[in-house]
Amino acid sequence: MRKPILIGNWKMNGSLHANQALMVRVLPRLRMFRKTIDLAVCPPFPYLFQVRDLLGYTGIALGAQNASSFVSGAYTGEVSATMLQEMGCRYVLVGHSERRALFAESSLEVAARYRSVLAAGLTPVLCVGETLAERESNQTGLVIERQLQAVIDEVGLAAMANGIIAYEPVWAIGTGKTATPEQVSRVHQEIRQFIANSAPEASDDISQQLRVIYGGSVKAANAFELFSLADVDGGLIGGASLHADEFGTIAGAL
Ligand code: 13P
Repeated sequence: MRKPILIGNWKMNGSLHANQALMVRVLPRLRMFRKTIDLAVCPPFPYLFQVRDLLGYTGIALGAQNASSFVSGAYTGEVSATMLQEMGCRYVLVGHSERRALFAESSLEVAARYRSVLAAGLTPVLCVGETLAERESNQTGLVIERQLQAVIDEVGLAAMANGIIAYEPVWAIGTGKTATPEQVSRVHQEIRQFIANSAPEASDDISQQLRVIYGGSVKAANAFELFSLADVDGGLIGGASLHADEFGTIAGAL
C-alpha cells in the first residue's frame, strides 16, 4: 500500500507575517490527517527556518522548492541539498515546470539536481508534465518519458523508488484548468507502466512502490474526484496551499 502524500508548494509567495498567519490557521486543520497521509509544505528558502519552527512537532514535514546539483563552492545564488537537509527539510521539488520553462533547467540539469537531493538523504519530488502544444500534438507520453529517462540514466531505476513523481501538466498549473480524471488516470498509469518496462526483472516492485501524485489547479472542489483515482497517490498543490480552509479540505480528500 502506498501512503498518500500532500505537498504544498508556496512558490515565491509569503512573508514572515503571512507565513505565521497561514500556519496558525492551517496546522489545526492538517493535524488530524497526519497519521493517514504524509504532509509537507515547501516555503521559499529564506522562510525555511521560520516554518520549521512553526511546524514544530506536528509531524508535518518541511520541503524546499529546488536544490543545487553541486555540494558546495563558488555557485552564487545556489542552495545545496546538504544545507536543506541541515535546515530540517525532508522533501525537495526537482524539475518543476516553472524551473524548466522560466529558468532553462534542462532534463539533464534536473537529473543532476535529483541526484544531489538523493545523496543528501532527502526525498526528491520529480515534476514532469507536458505543455498544451505538446498535448495537442500527441506528444504527452513522449515528453514525460524523456523527462523520466533523464533521471533514470543519471541515478538508475532502483533509486527512483526512493523518490516521488509529480505529474503536473503545464497547461493546468495556475490556470484554473484541471486535467480531467481520464487524462490524469491515463498519464499516471503510463508513468507506472514506463517504470515497470524500464527494467522488467526488478521494476515491478519499484513501479508499485513509487508514489505518483498530481498537481495543477487542485482545489477543494475537484480534490475528491482526483484523489479517488486508483493511480493518484496524492497532490502537489500551489495556489490552494496558501489558503488554510482550502488546503485543509484538500487534505481531507486524500
Ligand atoms: P497550482 O495548484 O497553483 O495550479 O500550482 C500547481 C503547482 O505548480 C504545484 O507545484
